[in-house]
Amino acid sequence: MLSKKMLIGGQWIDSKRHYELRSPYNGQVIARIPLADRGDIEKALASAEQGAKAMRLLTSHERSAILEKVAQLFQERAEQCAAILANEAAKPLKAARAEIARTIETYKFAAEEAKRIHGETIPLDAAKSGAGRFGYTKREPLGVIAAITPFNFPFNLVAHKLGPAFAAGNAVVLKPASQTPLSALMTAQLFAEAGLPAGALNVVTGSGSEIGDVLVQDARVKMITFTGSAEVGRRIKEQAGLKRVTLELGSNSAVIIDSAEDLEAVAARCAEGAFSFAGQVCISVQRIFVQERLFESFVELLTERAKRLVYGDPHEDTTDISALIHTREAERIERWVAEAADAGARIACGGRREGGYYEPTVIVSRERNLTISCQEAFGPVVVVDHYHDWDEAISAVNDSAYGLQAGVYTTSISKAFDAVERLEVGGVIINDIPTFRVDHMPYGGVKNSGLGKEGIKYSIEEMSELKFVSFKL
Ligand code: NAP
Repeated sequence: MLSKKMLIGGQWIDSKRHYELRSPYNGQVIARIPLADRGDIEKALASAEQGAKAMRLLTSHERSAILEKVAQLFQERAEQCAAILANEAAKPLKAARAEIARTIETYKFAAEEAKRIHGETIPLDAAKSGAGRFGYTKREPLGVIAAITPFNFPFNLVAHKLGPAFAAGNAVVLKPASQTPLSALMTAQLFAEAGLPAGALNVVTGSGSEIGDVLVQDARVKMITFTGSAEVGRRIKEQAGLKRVTLELGSNSAVIIDSAEDLEAVAARCAEGAFSFAGQVCISVQRIFVQERLFESFVELLTERAKRLVYGDPHEDTTDISALIHTREAERIERWVAEAADAGARIACGGRREGGYYEPTVIVSRERNLTISCQEAFGPVVVVDHYHDWDEAISAVNDSAYGLQAGVYTTSISKAFDAVERLEVGGVIINDIPTFRVDHMPYGGVKNSGLGKEGIKYSIEEMSELKFVSFKL
């Protein structure tokens, strides 16, 4: 069996305890993974403090070159990395390859941004007492950053932590999700090959609920960057004290379909947004509000798309949808869909579970208080409803505890601008689904969807300290 080690202080290190990593698709054991304890976290933090000193001494050109090299190494090993995703996350190869392509772009953006971190001059003589002085700002690294990441984009979401952290000259202790450690360890290997100083990246594997608090509370950690569920995010914020925290959390993203020139293309995009990686995407399409005149045709087109999806082994090129990350998640979806059916919802297609697989499911319902609408589904289920008035659609989208992104299909420019003004979300995507992200755009939610922004340039701002300097002339 493949036996993995953690990277701490530039060394591959084992721990006293281990766990068996199993394939979500067939339950087979993939690897033996170290289960880090307090002692391992202590070593990782001590090493990161040294790593932070080394990173601070690198020029921006050197930091950029390391990130550029990592992008190149990912390019060379793209197929191997995609296979890791199929193995540990049951991500179908089509989606896995797309994630690796984005990971390469993310590191390239970080390499470019590393050369553009600068301050500004401040006209101090704008104040009476500022005359005869010269002022400017500069950005400095924070030091040690703790990064805690989820299972669903284990290469690219790690890249969204490491890319900007290293571009800004920080060191990182990374705790990947228990189900997806292999991608994080592969990333660590590529950074080591790219010449990152020892200690700048430390990867500790193991259970977040066991070691998370130790990492989050330690005074050497200057910032916590977390992507994951709202529940864990809230706990991290409570434990973090005065440390800087960014939280990229969940959502029950909605799309309004008010008018469209090609309803078939809209339905195809909605199916993609709802069922890609079995809906385990933070901006997955979960709620669709359709203008009543388009409603029946839209449901028919969406259902037809959902039925076409091919279930199977994530390693097969033809597979569109595979098992959910754990069977218990498929069981949770089963309960939520049953609750919806009991409340009178129509299951237009899908609605069946087989082990860890849940069929792509379209639910038609007028009831807006169902668990499957209000909570984050994080599974291959989408709820469709219709509306009469535009205002009703806007209110329906905003009637959520979450606010990550929303999509609006409209041919009316005034409705598009109205939606931009009134939707309570971090990103409004006009004439597309909310499941749109490219890796340099500002990204992050409001309400229970989180705090702070990602997107390389924006993360660098969060991951650096603005220092002010005044010279008396
Ligand atoms: P999760 O259960 O919250 O886990 C995320 C990470 O937190 C894992 O590494 C986990 O470790 C760790 N963790 C668990 N308990 C912890 C604790 N007490 N202290 C510190 N860390 C702890 O989320 P997930 O199931 O992996 O991912 C799905 C969630 O991520 C969804 O809610 C999704 O919307 C969200 N997400 C958001 C974005 C975004 O950018 N907004 C992107 C992707 C995903 P273990 O694995 O060991 O438990």
